Amino acid sequence: MSDGRDMNAGTGMNDGSPPRRVIGDDERVRAELVACGQKLLSRGLLTQTSGNLSVRVGDKVYITPSSLEYDHIGPGDIAVLNLDGSVSSCRTGVSPSSETPLHCLTYEVRPDVAAIVHTHSGYATTLAVLGLPIPAVHYMIAVLGVTEVPVAPYATYGTEQLARNVRDSFTAPARAVLLANHGMVAVGHSLKHAADAAESLEHLAGLYYRALLVGKPNVLSDAQMAEVINKYRAKVPAVATAAAAAMAPMAASTSEGSAFLPGPAGGTT
Ligand code: 13P
Ligand code: ZN
Repeated sequence: MSDGRDMNAGTGMNDGSPPRRVIGDDERVRAELVACGQKLLSRGLLTQTSGNLSVRVGDKVYITPSSLEYDHIGPGDIAVLNLDGSVSSCRTGVSPSSETPLHCLTYEVRPDVAAIVHTHSGYATTLAVLGLPIPAVHYMIAVLGVTEVPVAPYATYGTEQLARNVRDSFTAPARAVLLANHGMVAVGHSLKHAADAAESLEHLAGLYYRALLVGKPNVLSDAQMAEVINKYRAKVPAVATAAAAAMAPMAASTSEGSAFLPGPAGGTT
């Protein structure tokens, strides 16, 4: 994925090297979206034209075009929306993703989210077809800010109803949700963060699916997950903050929960 800091680094004026071009947010975000689409395509999370990606920059949303294959999307094909979903700019002959309502409503209700990845990736979608939420079968579910990945009820793709179903199943600090009979949505504070969540979710879905094939998966208890979150609290405060907030309602309702989650749910140490 492109890195704006590297591309902007230095002017070359003092060291004899040719001057480097300084790029702005617009160019950088378009390049990031194209590169991220290609990366997720190469990793099997995206196929053909399924799925879509977006990034919020100020009061604009940069989003992948509808019905274009990821290895054919160029920076100029990325559409720019206003936060209400109206088109700010879009190349002639290209339309913004049909999931514009889902992306824009998510940004509206989740100020913590700056990027969204929607895929139809195999294992996540298989569980979504079965209507199976993913429980804490692996401790790494904590990076998704939840102790169970929920399934948003089915609605036709691209509709306001689907956007509302996702909104209602998916409150902060959750970073991932399955869409019944459709796929998944992952979010983050950057495009890389959202893409990482999508990959983590697909990996977790694969583990759960395979475990279900063999037997009855063991699910980590609330106390075991609370211990994981406490370890993260020391190592990765941002992850622990999100996961602890996800645990807070559960901690409040269990006697051991408060012992494992000292201090306010959103706090870090
Ligand atoms: P778009 O090509 O319009 O983004 O649609 C793909 C998709 O996944 C719809 O849910
Ligand atoms: Zn879709």
